[in-house]
Amino acid sequence: MRKLERLKYYTYLVNPFIQKKYRICRSFARDAHEYYDFLEGSQWWTADKLKEYQDEKLRKLINHAYMNVPYYRKIFSQYGIKPEDIRVSEDLVRLPILTKDIIRRNFPDGIVTGNDADKKDGVWTTGGSTGEPLKLYPDMRANNLVWASFFRFYRWHGYEWGDRVAIFFRPFSITDKRPLLHRYLDRLQKGLVPNVKYYDGSRLKDGDLAFVVEDLIKSNMRILRGYPSTLARLAEYCRDNGVSLRPKFVATTGEILYARQRDLLRKVFLCNVYDHYGCAEIMGVAFECGSGSGLHLTSEHCVVEVVDKDGNILPPDDKGLLLITDLDNYRMPFIRYMAGDEGSIKKEPCGCGRNLPLLDNVIGRECDMIKGLNGRIAHGLFFVTLMQDAQWFERFAVKDFEVVQSERDHIGITIVSEGEPGDDDKNKLITLCQEHFGRMRISLKFCEEILRTPSGKRRYTRSEIG
Ligand SMILES: [Zn+2]
Repeated sequence: MRKLERLKYYTYLVNPFIQKKYRICRSFARDAHEYYDFLEGSQWWTADKLKEYQDEKLRKLINHAYMNVPYYRKIFSQYGIKPEDIRVSEDLVRLPILTKDIIRRNFPDGIVTGNDADKKDGVWTTGGSTGEPLKLYPDMRANNLVWASFFRFYRWHGYEWGDRVAIFFRPFSITDKRPLLHRYLDRLQKGLVPNVKYYDGSRLKDGDLAFVVEDLIKSNMRILRGYPSTLARLAEYCRDNGVSLRPKFVATTGEILYARQRDLLRKVFLCNVYDHYGCAEIMGVAFECGSGSGLHLTSEHCVVEVVDKDGNILPPDDKGLLLITDLDNYRMPFIRYMAGDEGSIKKEPCGCGRNLPLLDNVIGRECDMIKGLNGRIAHGLFFVTLMQDAQWFERFAVKDFEVVQSERDHIGITIVSEGEPGDDDKNKLITLCQEHFGRMRISLKFCEEILRTPSGKRRYTRSEIG
């Protein structure tokens, strides 16, 4: 049966009688094509209609969480409320904030729905938005809406169906241990609709970039997407080596996009730069339109609240902590999730005519690049992959970490975990690091907590070598 389903799916992807946009959407997430047309229309709805739709989805989610998720059932009884007490997004304030710590304490049985067999596959480890890794189960339904919202964003900025997109992100694994068949099928699926290509954002030394740039030109990449720091590094390389890359636009995410980076990208690539916001736990939260007034929230997919340090709701235009409710993830419901980022919601609607509210002043992760003795430059998220490959998240429950390059040949990694790994495990991680960065001194330190800077933010990787 599953084989037949798969065959039908591949047949769909290559069927020339089906519109290209549906084939492309579907190559990213199975049912994204069903959501795309909906999102194209809903962006022009009135604010009232959007709110009504959002509240209806919220009621369904609340009911589902109450009926199926032990953590939420416990919280509801503890706070003396019933699902019918949460009718509209303003009622969410009656529920407590969901923190990473609560998720970790309840993971998986207290917070994930479905039976044990379901829980065996598909677990993800995220870098978290401010650096504390988290394990989670994605919901493919949410994934559909997320991908559809990405295409809506691309279309705002001149994307034509079939334009090739280059995505620079952390590698999913440094040593790809998936079975050969899985790797092959993955390539086949991506190859059927030749639209996107992933580049390893942790290989950024000049030699590596020469290959990347050559490939970008050869593959006629029309859109560049990735972390601002990674793309800025690519832009510097192009500028210094006189390479001319002419994408339609550049899309950034995952870190603060500084004005100087935006300028650099604009000047080198001679195109506009648009930011989007989401975290690995809840993706596709907000996207910048062409008017330059902020990022439109994907109201059809999530509710965003802004609160102060004590959890009080802040009025529009006031900056505070973002709490996000994912209206589509039924597998592991995130209700009032504190991702650790800050921002504000604008009172005034956008000049572009869309009534999706505007998110502004987003302050997310900051990352420095780490440079190896062999010249290799890595983005901070490389270390998440590293620890994932060494299975430290599962085996030692790593909660937080910080990487500091204090000298040219020294990298210090401070880790907060439950239980300290033995010498064998430590040496394995050090070896993996040295394989990537050359013969550097790598020191590991274990502690109870990593102190934050006064702003509450901290660099997840820090370089002191300039
Ligand atoms: Zn707009």
